[in-house]
Amino acid sequence: MPEIINDLSKLCVHTQTNRPWNLEQCITNYSEAGIHAISIWRHLLEGSSLSHVKSQLTAHNMEVASLVRGGFFASSEKLARELAIEDNLKAIDQAAAIGAPLLVLVCGSDPDQSLEVSRDQIKDGILKIIPYTKNAGIKLAIEPLHPMYAADRSAITSMGQANAMVEQINDQSLGVAVDLFHLWWDPDLESEIKRCGGEGNLFAFHVCDWNVPLQDMLNDRGLMGDGCIDVKQIRGWIEEAGFSGYREVEVFSDKYWAMDQVEYLERIKYAYLNHT
Ligand code: ZN
Repeated sequence: MPEIINDLSKLCVHTQTNRPWNLEQCITNYSEAGIHAISIWRHLLEGSSLSHVKSQLTAHNMEVASLVRGGFFASSEKLARELAIEDNLKAIDQAAAIGAPLLVLVCGSDPDQSLEVSRDQIKDGILKIIPYTKNAGIKLAIEPLHPMYAADRSAITSMGQANAMVEQINDQSLGVAVDLFHLWWDPDLESEIKRCGGEGNLFAFHVCDWNVPLQDMLNDRGLMGDGCIDVKQIRGWIEEAGFSGYREVEVFSDKYWAMDQVEYLERIKYAYLNHT
């Protein structure tokens, strides 16, 4: 078992966890709650000045763990693949402007073609954006998704596949984001986390829980302790593999979004301190 968590210094919250809040509300409320790391979802940057966002973050002593999300490289349409590259370059510029060191990639998949073709396009897409990424000083993390999203969200559905692609591309700016919701079920998870950390490719750790029964495949994630994932055990593997970064709470939940978000933030802190 890993060491007990007794402070909030490694706690990061994804803005989408508090979807009812805009970016300013996330920054000020997290800061007020003693949370000083944030992962920002890109739609919240629409229409705001990035330099203003940066200064708000600085004023609240808020570290950005990552910008979420780029990717979506796979498509049977050439134009869509080209637009995806452009959008990823824009995301890299945004990450650099707000001081986010990492861009998380949801890699994409297209039901009109095979998963193999989608994976080839993902590899091509990543290879196309890597030079720009390096130039900007930003890192990229492939986030493997649960296989239930294989048809249209990500053709990369396990740690093993993510590790293999990262090792093939073999560039220091590319690694993997481990998300418990997507990966907890995998019998090879412990060894694949070890492999990832051993290669220096473990870039991010997203925490939540799997509710039983799951009411919705997207918006019924649980807070740590709500469901069936042994969060502490997997955190132990992550830390044994050499990862010492933020534990990022990423919970999409119609149930929690309906709550008072300040009260909910206190529950997030409790779940983090007691069930992570
Ligand atoms: Zn995630």
